[in-house]
Amino acid sequence: MLGNIFLTLSYTNGGIFMETGCIFCSIAQEKTATELLYKNHNLVVFKDIKPHAPVHLLIVPKQHIRSINDLTADDLPLVSELIVAAKNMAIEVGVKETGYKLLFNVERGGGQMVFHLHLHLIGGWIR
Ligand code: 5GP
Ligand code: ZN
Repeated sequence: MLGNIFLTLSYTNGGIFMETGCIFCSIAQEKTATELLYKNHNLVVFKDIKPHAPVHLLIVPKQHIRSINDLTADDLPLVSELIVAAKNMAIEVGVKETGYKLLFNVERGGGQMVFHLHLHLIGGWIR
């Protein structure tokens, strides 16, 4: 049966590695209706579509990297940038003082569902 063949193509956009058929590549390229809360040359931030907490943002590199497992030493500045962007967004959405979690799910066993690297910023609970 040839029913479920899905073609994935890799390409570069402004020097940034992307993949067709990847929802986070599409969001990062503003090809969807998803509102970006922040964007710069390297990353975008948007709200999780199924939030697990009052505040649930995703910090997503524009570059298509599958997961933490695929990072190399060259990616160190990017990973630092994701974390600093998360910290800045925590200030922006008012959870800096109350606290928050930063989470990478890694591969299926780690709960990863979207195989494009992303950092979850989760918080806003009243405790
Ligand atoms: P993971 O389980 O891969 O670490 O997290 C993926 C997250 O992406 C999930 O929390 C899921 O709700 C969110 N998500 C999946 N598809 C979309 C989408 O199309 N738009 C937005 N805003 N979030 C999505
Ligand atoms: Zn992608």
